[in-house]
Amino acid sequence: MRKPYLAGNWKMNLDRASSLALAGALREHVGQRNDVEVAVAPPFVYLPAVVEALEGSPIRVGSQNMCDQAKGAFTGEVSGAMLRDVGATFAILGHSERRHVYGEPDALVNAKVHHALEVGLDVILCVGETIEEREAGETEKVVRRHLTEGLAGVDGLSKITIAYEPVWAIGTGLNATPEQAGEVHTYLRGVLEGLFGERAAETTRIQYGGSVKPGNIAELMAVDGVDGALVGGASLEAESFAGIVDFDK
Ligand code: PEP
Repeated sequence: MRKPYLAGNWKMNLDRASSLALAGALREHVGQRNDVEVAVAPPFVYLPAVVEALEGSPIRVGSQNMCDQAKGAFTGEVSGAMLRDVGATFAILGHSERRHVYGEPDALVNAKVHHALEVGLDVILCVGETIEEREAGETEKVVRRHLTEGLAGVDGLSKITIAYEPVWAIGTGLNATPEQAGEVHTYLRGVLEGLFGERAAETTRIQYGGSVKPGNIAELMAVDGVDGALVGGASLEAESFAGIVDFDK
């Protein structure tokens, strides 16, 4: 049984006061609920404050990115150990904005995955095709590459969540249809099975991400193999993220 996992990626939004207000409102809304897993990924600089604001709450706090190196002359970067030090428990890696805006290749994503696991961070590994790749019939090829190369050399999946995020659906208001999401989630689980075996594939959660809102979360979560959501825009307001967390109510 895979527990639904709803994570909010705040990206480079909010300020200290609004981050704390959002964290406080979510804390109150989620209470001690444990039938779903809820997580937020604030900007680096607000991580410690948000961790503190959510102390005692089951809501997890993680980062949107991290360096692949442990320490040293890497100006502007943040290490996994630093993230752990301030209370983060997971890192989102391979987000499409990292891949496409900052040119992160699969090998770098893979190095980050290894480093995150080494320091004890869980990982949300994002995979997904661009509209050009989808139209060229390359969706499966692309997501297979993201998975295979992103997870190369990884021993097991117990600390890993996959997020299928079609690039054309991120921040566009245009979500994948339940059929499209279902096709790719089924394909991804098959790839995971080939790489890590049936049990690992069956227990690993695959989130959908891309213009998830309170109005479409129920139909997406109803799809076999969709185990949660990675949410950008709609995670920035307590009411809309709460509506996503409450997808089955
Ligand atoms: C995201 O950034 O991971 C995302 C899915 O964004 P949005 O929900 O805004 O499309």
